[in-house]
Amino acid sequence: MPTLVLNGVQKSFGKNPVLQGIDLTVTSGQMVCLIGASGSGKSTLLRCMNLLEPIDDGSITLDGIDISEPGYDPQPVRQRIGMVFQSFNLFPHMTALDNALLAPRRVHGTSRAELEPKVVELFSRFGLADRMHHYPDQLSGGQQQRVAIVRALAMKPQIMLFDEITSALDPELVGEVLDVLRQLRSEGMTMVLATHEMGFARELADTVCFLDRGRILESGSPEQVFGAPEQERTRAFLSRVL
Ligand code: ADP
Ligand code: MG
Repeated sequence: MPTLVLNGVQKSFGKNPVLQGIDLTVTSGQMVCLIGASGSGKSTLLRCMNLLEPIDDGSITLDGIDISEPGYDPQPVRQRIGMVFQSFNLFPHMTALDNALLAPRRVHGTSRAELEPKVVELFSRFGLADRMHHYPDQLSGGQQQRVAIVRALAMKPQIMLFDEITSALDPELVGEVLDVLRQLRSEGMTMVLATHEMGFARELADTVCFLDRGRILESGSPEQVFGAPEQERTRAFLSRVL
């Protein structure tokens, strides 16, 4: 059962300190939501968890193993920690199914015949069975984002990171993508989301973290953070977005 622990994580871009000592524990089966203004460091934090960005100080451990050591091979970590972005980035010249088969085939060196039934099963589980053979431009934005989620799940990750995955969608398509997250959560997937969907975070998060200028200024249950925020800056942020 995966547990991800961040300890004093610091990250700067040039002279810009973007993460200034992040302590965060993500335990198995939990859903953690990162909220905060644009530029507060949510995306950078997720990218550090996935080793897409090296950290400057502190540590990130996965099941007790320090994965943030310089020189640690990021590839196996990225198989265990999947990530989905705001822009779906599907390959336009491949069907949804082929998009989802690409990475696991390359990484696991498994044959298509062996892999395909498992990936088809994922498409079915997330209501996309009738869309598998479509190309991205034949799918709505919501369907494309759901395919992007299935593609990440095809790697059999233990933890999933989601970076504002509904922000680029027309409002009427947001619900179907949130439904996928809801389903994943009920299946016990460990998840960390950067999100502007406050209603969703309030409904489903185990822990909500309010990021402010690279720090977790406040964290707790949704009832605590949304219902009785302790920090003035949290209150100001929530009054702007709620
Ligand atoms: P959020 O996702 O909360 O909007 P980000 O993590 O994207 O915040 O950005 C936090 C800060 O880091 C911003 O000031 C942003 O300009 C800066 N930043 C993010 N990525 C880079 C990068 N690759 N190079 C330089 N600065 C960056
Ligand atoms: Mg961001």
